[in-house]
Amino acid sequence: MENLPRYNLTFGSTTVLMAHATSLTIVNIGYRSTNYWVVSAGSSRLLVDIGWPGTLGTMKANLRRMGIPLAEIRYAMATHYHIDHAGLAEELKHEGVPLLVIDIQLAAIPVMKTWTKPADHYVEITPEGNTVIACHESRALLARLGVAGEIVHTPGHSAHCVALLLDDGSAFTGDLPPEASCFDNPTALASWALLRRLGARRVYPAHGPTRPMD
Ligand SMILES: [Zn+2]
Repeated sequence: MENLPRYNLTFGSTTVLMAHATSLTIVNIGYRSTNYWVVSAGSSRLLVDIGWPGTLGTMKANLRRMGIPLAEIRYAMATHYHIDHAGLAEELKHEGVPLLVIDIQLAAIPVMKTWTKPADHYVEITPEGNTVIACHESRALLARLGVAGEIVHTPGHSAHCVALLLDDGSAFTGDLPPEASCFDNPTALASWALLRRLGARRVYPAHGPTRPMD
């Protein structure tokens, strides 16, 4: 009898967690062969990967088409700072969407401009207004959005890559090369092993279709 209340308490919080996880929706607003994922807890939303430079109109049109008000996106985060993944970050900040940066990504941000041509119309990312956190602080921040999950350091494509891993097993892995094709990339293999250990079950890559974990 003594253990019963504790059991009930545990059961109760598990139920709350489950309800949380199942209420999340995932929508792809991607274009030009890149996936941009919107994870939503009701009208509280997180954008994972942030468009090509010079394509704000396309991203806004896709959001409209999917019925996602830009004003409901609480943060935009990039799995890594390459131009097809963070090209609109500064412009979205001007539209009122704060940029969520992981501290290990900071050094990669100024390098982005070296990969663009003037014709790309890339608007350089400034430090102003960015929310910078460490991976270990991500669960608390995501919880404030109603999203149960964490941001995990997953090097392998580049050293500063991160993945968003939801507690329901959805893993937003950016450009982490598929496990089957990275036998010669021990860093990437270690990232997959970490994701698997943390409960990843379904992969939402930045390019190509979703797939179950191998
Ligand atoms: Zn890419």
